[in-house]
Amino acid sequence: MRMTSTDITDTVQTPLWSKQPSLPNTFARLPETFYTRLTPAGLPSPYLVAVSDDAAHLLGLEGNALALQEFVDVFAGNQPLPGGAPLAAVYSGHQFGVWAGQLGDGRAHLLGEVQGPHGAWEIQLKGAGRTPYSRMGDGRAVLRSSIREFLCSEAMAGLGIPTTRALCIVGADLPVRRETIETAAVVTRLSPSFVRFGSFEHWAAQGVNENAPKPELKQLADYVIDTFMPESRDHSSPYASLLREVSRRTGVLIAHWQAVGFMHGVMNTDNMSILGLTLDYGPFGFMEAFDAAHICNHSDHAGRYAYARQPEVAHWNLYALGSALLPLIGDEDVARAAIEEGFAPAYDETFAALIRAKLGLVATHANDEAFMTSTFAFLQAHRPDYTLFFRGLSHLPNQAAPHSDDAVRDLFIDRAACDAWLATWRDRLNAEQSNEAARRTRMLRANPKYVLRNWLAENAIRKARDKDYSEIASLLQCLRRPYDEQPEFAHYAALPPDWASGLEVSCSS
Ligand code: AMP
Ligand code: MG
Repeated sequence: MRMTSTDITDTVQTPLWSKQPSLPNTFARLPETFYTRLTPAGLPSPYLVAVSDDAAHLLGLEGNALALQEFVDVFAGNQPLPGGAPLAAVYSGHQFGVWAGQLGDGRAHLLGEVQGPHGAWEIQLKGAGRTPYSRMGDGRAVLRSSIREFLCSEAMAGLGIPTTRALCIVGADLPVRRETIETAAVVTRLSPSFVRFGSFEHWAAQGVNENAPKPELKQLADYVIDTFMPESRDHSSPYASLLREVSRRTGVLIAHWQAVGFMHGVMNTDNMSILGLTLDYGPFGFMEAFDAAHICNHSDHAGRYAYARQPEVAHWNLYALGSALLPLIGDEDVARAAIEEGFAPAYDETFAALIRAKLGLVATHANDEAFMTSTFAFLQAHRPDYTLFFRGLSHLPNQAAPHSDDAVRDLFIDRAACDAWLATWRDRLNAEQSNEAARRTRMLRANPKYVLRNWLAENAIRKARDKDYSEIASLLQCLRRPYDEQPEFAHYAALPPDWASGLEVSCSS
């Protein structure tokens, strides 16, 4: 039975299709200098490509409701979201370490905010047309990059890593020029906020240009504090407390990235969420054969955003944010202390906890740090597939038996080196009298079987070019539960096939 929109409004408990005259939009309560109100250009003859049921549930919607043409038109940017008042926000930022000046939502439209069962979500279209911040860009997103952003947002959520979410992809036959001619798509993103480090840098820079602090800097800081970090208000220096909290959240986030082997690819300050969420998925990657120097973004020639550099780059970005907040904090030492107290302790503590969990350790031993360091040196020397190594380790028995370790040993050319490391790992487990069954259960919750490898996304993209979206749906189904065995998806846990070695992802999106 085809549902009508009236059925939906009556049966689905959601304010998304509400009779309210206007949706709330707390961001839009900021002065008009923060954004431009505009109507998205939309997509010609749009069709639904993919929906995330999990993201729909955040809004109190059933995923299948989005198949209605009415929703497709809204999420293509062709029809207003009832009660919505679209806007594009301004921000600036440092790109590849260089001040880039004004950027802004060049292809994003914030429609408004929806109160879901467990919180409020801003709804943002990406790729629905030009805005005053498009500069030389066409305001479009191609289907290829939209599929990558959609799948990775939902995969990260499945992994338990802070992230913006993706509700759906709407496609169209509209040609879009990148290196080749591709087709256009709009991905609908959800986040409590899309405010970036660069949003603050924007107003700080305007103040410097005009030789006087801009009131917007304080207005933005007050908005973020009051809406998302109200505890900071009670602090003797609320703005230093804001910086400390952002630093802490960023430390937690980057520790998750490092532990799971995620590489963002473009950690420019305009892509850093003020809420510590993974934001703006472009040329990201997941570590396969372990190499700390791996650069996932083909456009990043200097390796600024290589895997091993992500923590220091995040720290650098926090200093850019700290400089922007300095007129409010008033004291450089206080700002520096906020970053140092916030970032490194959160990073170190979270990373150590995650790696200990990946190794199956519970008790703390004096030489644990040395053991973890030597483990990463061992991975670097022998380059096994990062995800398969830890997943395989989870299944191994506490005591080696003939062939018990084959699945892990097969990831190594130098089997003797693998055996030697496994012996040290088992010694460490024995030192805490690790219970095998309990350890295995814990490790299987800490070591995902499935991550969004580039070759998996590429397969989904290739099929989607022929309007076959089944691979997107299956990958989504698998990646939303990455710690579960899901034997029907075992082929998604395989090493990359030979054809994938030539895959390159760049900033082109
Ligand atoms: P990104 O590299 O995707 O984080 O984008 C950096 C800046 O360029 C942001 O201001 C984007 O809105 C803008 N941008 C990227 N691609 C486009 C495009 N195709 N059209 C307009 N603006 C774009
Ligand atoms: Mg961006």
